[in-house]
Parts: sequence; C-alpha cells; structure tokens
Amino acid sequence: MNQAAFTSSDQTTSKVNLLDFDRQGLRDFFTQIGEKPYRAEQVMKWIYHDLQDDFENMTDVGKALRAKLNEVCYIGAPKTVLDKAANDGTHKWLLGMDQGNAVETVYIPEPTRGTLCVSSQIGCALNCQFCSTGAQGFNRNLSTAEIIGQVWVAAKYLGNVTHQNRRITNVVMMGMGEPLANFENVVRAMKLMRDDLGFGLAAKRVTLSTAGMVPLIDQLSDTIDVSLAVSLHAANDDLRTELVPLNKRYPIAELIAACQRWVARKPRTSITFEYTLMKGVNDQPEHARQLIKLMRKLPTCKVNLIPFNPFPGTRFERSGADAIRDFQTQLLSAGVLTMLRRTRGDDIDAACGQLAGQVTDRTRRSADLRKRQDEGVQHAV
Ligand code: SAH
Repeated sequence: MNQAAFTSSDQTTSKVNLLDFDRQGLRDFFTQIGEKPYRAEQVMKWIYHDLQDDFENMTDVGKALRAKLNEVCYIGAPKTVLDKAANDGTHKWLLGMDQGNAVETVYIPEPTRGTLCVSSQIGCALNCQFCSTGAQGFNRNLSTAEIIGQVWVAAKYLGNVTHQNRRITNVVMMGMGEPLANFENVVRAMKLMRDDLGFGLAAKRVTLSTAGMVPLIDQLSDTIDVSLAVSLHAANDDLRTELVPLNKRYPIAELIAACQRWVARKPRTSITFEYTLMKGVNDQPEHARQLIKLMRKLPTCKVNLIPFNPFPGTRFERSGADAIRDFQTQLLSAGVLTMLRRTRGDDIDAACGQLAGQVTDRTRRSADLRKRQDEGVQHAV
C-alpha cells in the first residue's frame, strides 16, 4: 500500500484513513497489518451501514483488534463548517478541507427519491464560462475519503441509520469539479457508493457528470458500471468552445462518438445530456434544431434542460419562461426525450452551478479574470 498516494483529511496524523479504501483496498490493508481480510468487510459494514467512526462501538470486533486499529488507522470524514437548509427542503453542507479550502455538498429531497450532489475537486480547472466553480480556479483533487466522506456526512446528518430505509437514494457527481479529471479517487469512491457493504446503490442511481473528457469516458466504461451525464450546452462547436473551453480539445463529433461507444457497450443504458439555458446565448430555435440533429445520433439518450442559475459577477442571464418552454416543446415534438430541471435550493445558492465553497486558487486564474474584468476585457474564449 502506498500511503503517500492518499491525501488524508486529517493532516495532523500519519495514520491511514480507512475511507480512502474501496473493499479490495481495505482487505489488502487488513492483510498487511496481519489480520484476516474478512475483518475488512466487518469494519466496512460498521462504517457505511451503521455510520460509525469509532472502533470502540464495533461490538463484533475484539478488544485487541480495536486497540490495534486505533493505533494504525482512523475513519475520517470531512468536517462540516456550515450547513444550511432551503425552504424547499434542499440542504447544503460546506465541508472544510486543508488550508482554508472548503467544498459544497447538496441534498435534494423529492417525493420518491433523495439525491446527493457530490464534489470531486476543490475548484475546477475547466473554466466553463457560466459556472461559478469554474470562475474560482483550481486548487487540488479531493481524496477518496473526502469524496465518499461527503456521502457519509450527509447520510449521518439525515439520519440514515437504517440501511434499508435510506434517505439518499441517488448520488450525482455534479458538485464542484470535473470528476473525470480526478479519475482514480472518484472511481474508488463510486465503488463504495455501489458496494453492498458500502452505500449499496444501483448503477442507475450513481451518476458521473462530465464536461466531455473523451478518452476518460471510454476508460470509465471499462472500469465501473455507473450512469453517465454529459454537459453539452451547445450543439455547434463555435458556441460550445466559447462556453466550455474543453471543447477545443475534444470537439462535439469526438464527444458524440465516445457517447455512441458508451451506449454500444452498455445496452439498455441511456446518457443524459445537460443543457443549461442562457438568455440569447443558446436558447434560440436554431440552437434547438442543432441539438435535435445531434440527438438523432443517440436515439436512446435524453436531454435535461437546466435554466441558468446566476451568481455574482456572471455576464449570463437565465432564459425567459417562454423561451424555455418553446425550446423544450421544439425538442419534444421532434421526438427527443427532454426533461426540464426544476431549480431547487436557490435561496441558499445550492442550485446547479452555484457551488462556490472556498477555493484558494493555485492556478491564479481567478486573479487573472478579475484583472481582465477590471480592465473591461470580455473574457469570452
Ligand atoms: N464538471 C462536471 C460536473 C459539475 S457541473 C460537468 O461539467 O458536468 C454540474 C452541472 O451543472 C453541469 O451540467 C454544469 O454545466 C451545470 N452548471 C454549471 N453552472 C451552471 C449554472 N450557473 N446554471 C445552471 N447549470 C450550471
């Protein structure tokens, strides 16, 4: 085991954080400390079903082993710095990381399900123009413990004590960060979300959302069975490159080809294309026509329309109600399965694209942006 590969959420200790391991990693760890691997499964159940972080409460683990575990490892979820409840039941946690950084996690309750929106990085390097996280620059990847720890903290808060009666039925990697850019840690955390001894969620209930890192979409499909969402936002390359600069590297044709390979390898699965509607930017009938044409290449897939959520300093506006309705009607009448995402938790800035956290920018991008804005330079790409 390579301890240096894990960033601990408790920097003051050299002990190993058990939240950094998936089931196999935990078995290997127990073997390494001279214990039977099945002990890993016993402990895993305590951690993820009973939400325990104290070895002393693990009653079927002998006293000697509990003492040994206390010496070499710990169970360390991120610490809650702040939590806020919105009027509609949406809940947001600000979780403290190292060096004054913090990320956000959001719980969205609905009548038949509860969705947790999880962050994968402190900040984001992709610089999507309409995203508040993007405007803050990038600090670092979250460790596996910091990713799965978000689910653990939320489950514990929501009183998810009986594993059968869970409040979190779905997890979406749609918080801060680009999950595919933190591939290893995100995959390990998603394995724990899926594992019966972890949170036990079905593949269709764990969704990774990407801005379109093409080679890693293929790698993901080879590695783990989860659902895929792709942030599209424009169906022509000029506009998409302006909104999502990553499109320059992986243009729409390559992205769609990767999506076709994903669907071909996973029969009966569909991909959700997210399309954030911005007034006068990507919400016109011609944009809908371009999108319809593109979606013909992926007939089993669906479109999720997200009305733009504003944040301080943005140059974009939410599309008007009529434009949103017309856009959806145009897609639906062409036979494209289209959902309109209701905005939730906007009174606590918990809506899509509003997650800001606290990011010490190591890329210095936010400072550059501020400078350019001060100089009156439009920062379109
Ligand atoms: N990096 C990943 C996941 C994070 S963003 C991705 O790009 O998919 C999750 C979703 O919120 C994406 O579809 C993103 O485009 C959308 N989003 C970002 N900013 C938004 C905003 N201000 N209003 C509405 N949706 C936004």
